Amino acid sequence: MNTIKTTTYDNFKCIASDCPITCCKGWSIRADKEIFQKWKAAEDTKYICDHVSYKREDQEEIYCMKLDYSKQCLLLDEKGLCNIVKNHGDEYLCKTCAEFPRKKNTINDNIEYSLSGGCPAVIELINKDVDMVNISDFEGDSDDSYPMEYRVRNHVIELMQNKEYSLCEKIWISFSFLNECTLCEYEDDVYDCIDTYKDKETLIDLAAEYRKTKCNRLEAFEEVCQTFYDVTEFYKEEDLYRPYLFELAEYVSEIFPEDEVILDELEIKLFEWNKYTMEFKNYDSLFEKILVSEIFADCVSEDIFCLIESFQAIVLEYIMVRLALFLKKSRYDVQITDADIRDYTSLFIRAIGHNTEGMSEYWEESFDDSILERDYFYMILQ
Ligand code: SF4
Repeated sequence: MNTIKTTTYDNFKCIASDCPITCCKGWSIRADKEIFQKWKAAEDTKYICDHVSYKREDQEEIYCMKLDYSKQCLLLDEKGLCNIVKNHGDEYLCKTCAEFPRKKNTINDNIEYSLSGGCPAVIELINKDVDMVNISDFEGDSDDSYPMEYRVRNHVIELMQNKEYSLCEKIWISFSFLNECTLCEYEDDVYDCIDTYKDKETLIDLAAEYRKTKCNRLEAFEEVCQTFYDVTEFYKEEDLYRPYLFELAEYVSEIFPEDEVILDELEIKLFEWNKYTMEFKNYDSLFEKILVSEIFADCVSEDIFCLIESFQAIVLEYIMVRLALFLKKSRYDVQITDADIRDYTSLFIRAIGHNTEGMSEYWEESFDDSILERDYFYMILQ
């Protein structure tokens, strides 16, 4: 077996009570049957079972940790520490809690270990990791021990780590590559496509296409704001997300009111947005590392269409973080901090990346196709 890890993997440590968006809150935490039986079997751990709900769904037994009114696990103490760990040790944690944010994917003879950016401590680690290539023992698309779809993913990682182009240019090139792969009839065509997208001239042409293509900036801004509004519609009401998202979603409605749009004000916002997106390029190298980590961990499907959906979701996380921080800056006249980047990135990775199926349905409903058209993708990337 070949072991491949992101370079941050071994350095991860949960920051527990210092965590700004604990993973013990805001989602349904699944417990496994084995640990439930273990808790039930011993007198001193039996009480944990009272904090677990149980149901049967499609022949499946589902155990979930019960949550309080604020959707927080009942076993978290007032300092944000887990009572199971405190009283009985890590070995009594359910799989979900013991593993998060660690991820493990087994692909033929390769075991891949990575960390989810849904954890803010992981984003901090990635931020500190100076190395651009943050996957050890990774041979990219040349590694034929991977099935074809994974060689496609590996090539996307190579494209995203190309130092010649800006982040958005690389996203554009990668999306174009994935699109072309979906048109291939045979496996060999996909390998030809990989070769084409290794060719320097092809990459130069696509980067130039990205720079030269023009789109209506106001329409693009409005579309990104609308997507933000839709994506946050349910999350903004939840306790965990509310302090970060609720007022920003309201602010979006103020920028684009349903009744009367005041064009002069909109022009000013657009001017601010254009300036801001240029400044945001300062975070290109950080987001390159975050995106590469997410692609490595989550673009794991033996279906090119699922792969491209996951890629779109990961890119949307970046687009939403960029917009959220613009809204915050514009509304409160504050500077963006590293903590803002960390927290909003983790939140959107949870809301979008951990919900790729929901995003695919959203695109399907909005555009009759879960794979975005190139023009549209280009527009929201602006
Ligand atoms: S999100 Fe990460 S740092 Fe926060 S409590 Fe969970 S594992 Fe720990």
